[in-house]
Amino acid sequence: MITKQLIDKLDKNKYLNKDEFVYLIDNCGEDSKSYLADKALKQKEAVFGKKIYIRGLIEISNYCKNNCFYCGIRRDNKSICRYRLSKEEILECCRIGYDIGFRTFVMQGAEDDEFPDELLIDIIERINEKYPDCAITLSVGEREKSVYQAFYEAGANRYLLRHETADEEHYRKLHPKSMSLKHRKQCLYDLKKIGYQTGTGFMVGSPFQTSTNLADDLLFIKELNPEMVGIGPYISQKDTPFKNQKSGSLEKTLLMLGLVRLMLPRTLIPSTTALGTISEGGREMGLLAGANVIMPNLSPEGARKLYNLYDNKLHTGLEAAEHLHKLKKKVLSVGQEIVTDRGDYK
Ligand code: SAH
Repeated sequence: MITKQLIDKLDKNKYLNKDEFVYLIDNCGEDSKSYLADKALKQKEAVFGKKIYIRGLIEISNYCKNNCFYCGIRRDNKSICRYRLSKEEILECCRIGYDIGFRTFVMQGAEDDEFPDELLIDIIERINEKYPDCAITLSVGEREKSVYQAFYEAGANRYLLRHETADEEHYRKLHPKSMSLKHRKQCLYDLKKIGYQTGTGFMVGSPFQTSTNLADDLLFIKELNPEMVGIGPYISQKDTPFKNQKSGSLEKTLLMLGLVRLMLPRTLIPSTTALGTISEGGREMGLLAGANVIMPNLSPEGARKLYNLYDNKLHTGLEAAEHLHKLKKKVLSVGQEIVTDRGDYK
C-alpha cells in the first residue's frame, strides 16, 4: 500500500516532498494510521526510552492586544474576566510545582502590554536563583529581538511560539490585518539565533485549513528544525468569530504528531491539553503516537478557568498539576513513565 511505503520513506529519510505529505494526509486509512503511530512510538522510544517529561504551565495573563479570530482570550472578547498574575503568585506556583517534581516552568500568556518586560525579567531571575536546576520556558508571543535577548540573558532557556499556519493566505483568514506571518516567522528565527530551545507548531483542523496547508506546516517545521513542536486540535470558542466552525479531530491530530515524530525524531512534542479536551483519553493516545511531553496546569486555581483559549478546556482532573500522582498512574497504564527531569533537547 502506497501510504505505508510513504511512511517507511519518511521514517528512513526524515523527509517527504509536499505532494507526498498531502497524499499521506488525505489517504491514510485506519491501518496506515496505526502503522504510523507504531513507528512514531518506536522512534520516540529509540531516543527517549519510556520517558515522558512534564512541564508546569503557569498562565500569567489573559489580557491581550491581539485579536486572533480563533482565540477565546482575543482582545474583543468582552465576556471574559481578565486577570494578570503578580510576581508573588508566579513564584508561589513555582514553589508548589518544584515540590511536586516539576523541573521546567512554562510561563505562558497573552500579549499583555501592561505586563512590563522588566517585571518578567525580574521573575525569570528570581526563578533562576531559587531553582537553578530548573528550565524556564516562555510563551508570550511576538516581541522585539532585543527583548527576547534580555529574557534569555535573565535565564530563560526555551521559547514556544506556534507559527499557527505556514501559509500566507491561510494566515490571513485566521488573523486580523495587523498581524503578519512574516513577522511571526522572523521571531522564530530570532529566537533560534539567540540560542533558545525553540518550539513552534500549529492547530489541526483550524477553519479553512487544507491538506496542502498542513503539508506546508510540516515543510516549514523541517526547515526551522525546532527543538519542540506543539500540535493540538483547533477547538471552537463561543465568543469568537469562529464560534460556529467545527473543531479539529483526534485522528488527524494523532496523524500529524506521528509525521512530525518521524521527521524530527529528537524533538520534544507535547500531548496537548486540547487533545485531552476533544477526546477522553486523547492525551494518552498522543503519547502512543509520538508525543513525549505533558504540560499540567500549575496556574492558581482562579486563573485556570479564565485562560479560556477554547470551550471546555480541561483544568481539573489529570490536567491539574496537584493531581500529578494520578497522571503518573495513567501514563504508566499505557506503558510510559513520567520522570522528574528538565528534559532538555539533546
Ligand atoms: N500569546 C502566546 C500564547 C498563545 S496561547 C502566543 O502568541 O504564542 C497558546 C496557543 O493556543 C496558540 O499558539 C494557539 O495555537 C492555541 N490556541 C488558541 N486558540 C485556540 C483554539 N481555539 N483551539 C485550540 N488551540 C488554540
